[in-house]
Amino acid sequence: MSASLVAPLVVSLYGNTCSVLINSILRHGRNCTIIRAGHGSGIHIEGRKISREKMRENYLKMKEKCKSKKLPPDVNANGVFACNELDLKEVQVYGFDYDYTLACYKPSMDYLLYNLGRDMLIKKHKYPEKIAQLEYKDDFAVRGLHYDIEKGLLLKLDSFLQIQLGTVYRGLHPVPDDEVLRIYKNRIIPIAYVESQHKHSQDGPNRQKMVQLADLFSVPEMGLLCNVTEYFLQNQIDYHPEILFRDVKNSVQSCHPIMHQLVANNVSDYLEPNKDLTKFFDRLKAANKKMFLVTNIQARKPRFFTDESRPLRVYDEIQQTQLWDRVTKLEKGTIYLEGTVKQLQDMTGWRGHQVLYFGDHPYSDLADVTLEHGWRTGAIIQELTYEIENLNKPEFKENANWLQMLTTLIEEHQDYDGEEVQDQLAEWMRERDQLRNAIKRVFNKQFGSVFRTYHNPTYFSRRLFRFADIYMSSISNLLYYSNTHTFYPRRGVMPHEYISYFV
Ligand SMILES: [Mg+2]
Repeated sequence: MSASLVAPLVVSLYGNTCSVLINSILRHGRNCTIIRAGHGSGIHIEGRKISREKMRENYLKMKEKCKSKKLPPDVNANGVFACNELDLKEVQVYGFDYDYTLACYKPSMDYLLYNLGRDMLIKKHKYPEKIAQLEYKDDFAVRGLHYDIEKGLLLKLDSFLQIQLGTVYRGLHPVPDDEVLRIYKNRIIPIAYVESQHKHSQDGPNRQKMVQLADLFSVPEMGLLCNVTEYFLQNQIDYHPEILFRDVKNSVQSCHPIMHQLVANNVSDYLEPNKDLTKFFDRLKAANKKMFLVTNIQARKPRFFTDESRPLRVYDEIQQTQLWDRVTKLEKGTIYLEGTVKQLQDMTGWRGHQVLYFGDHPYSDLADVTLEHGWRTGAIIQELTYEIENLNKPEFKENANWLQMLTTLIEEHQDYDGEEVQDQLAEWMRERDQLRNAIKRVFNKQFGSVFRTYHNPTYFSRRLFRFADIYMSSISNLLYYSNTHTFYPRRGVMPHEYISYFV
């Protein structure tokens, strides 16, 4: 459900019933083979020469080496991946978000939200009737992109706040790299454009000009935003990107109550059945774990985790209203509205590492509970299924290996002098660019992987790795592990430790 619509709902199902730095590039040093260790040991000597023939010979040798490497084994798409060590023996309480954490929707949900939002733009905001003909393109956007509300551009940033060139879109068309550099004057976006000031900061005005669309419900929103922008551009209609952004957002989000009603009446049309969910809950129940659900029925969930005080209220399911009674203790099976995480902790005595909370949104679900309350966290990222499927294709593995080795070849030859050398390097760079784009397109033609921008982690990944102890494609992946399992992160390789390939 939308974060901006509704107040948190706490359903207590408990009782006996029912390093993190960017793990980033370094973490992806898995399956590494160390193949050279002397890099950087020699002092650069001016005027070093190498013939083009020798360079070509080195290229062929490298290619041979690449072909002789065994491809890494497949990644298990049902795996649980650790960013931080997590011992489930310490976890007594399991908490869950609802939408896209326990309830996973079919692609029909994206179409539904898009269509409802588009019709709302026409009905409520009087957008041109002709936009009713704009159909949803389900392969256009991925989550985690940023929208520049001043310039009306949708773009992908990496963990260093660098723009990934080739992924900046105005409407449905990419903006050429030279224009992007003219617009932003830099490839790195100032942090104040991207992140709102710290909530306790009193300094100056808010300079945030970009919003990140990190929620799965925002994917159809991005589709609508770009379709309408494209319509305006094609028809030379002047528009204000910020107004368009706000209208699209409000239109889509104001449709959430209608959407919920439609889903309730046609569950099988919109919800992916997950029979393993009952098995998962039964197993937690048998192990005497407590469970609770915190979700939005009238929005404002981030406030559940951030507000200092807001009384919990009992929801009467029969009367469908909230009661005035003071809540002094939580009872099994009762639904509560509003409240704060502080009250939940005070009433239950649950503390920090005893609680493991799962959500699909790395910030609104996971950031505050881990930063402020020391809860352990699990992220449900459904895109992992599709991304891992692609990572496991032999062609992808070969390309990723060769990209890494070709980059090393370029790195090792770049300090030689001479025109011939530069020509050969330019040829290798062109091949490298083609490879990088081929690897990107596998995931999404426009924006590539949710997790990477070329070799770097995306801005989305950085946040995910920072706020999630573990992450997985579906909550039921935990059934492949025991209740007492400890998840260990890979040690990874730091840039100063070894020179290695992802092979
Ligand atoms: Mg959710």
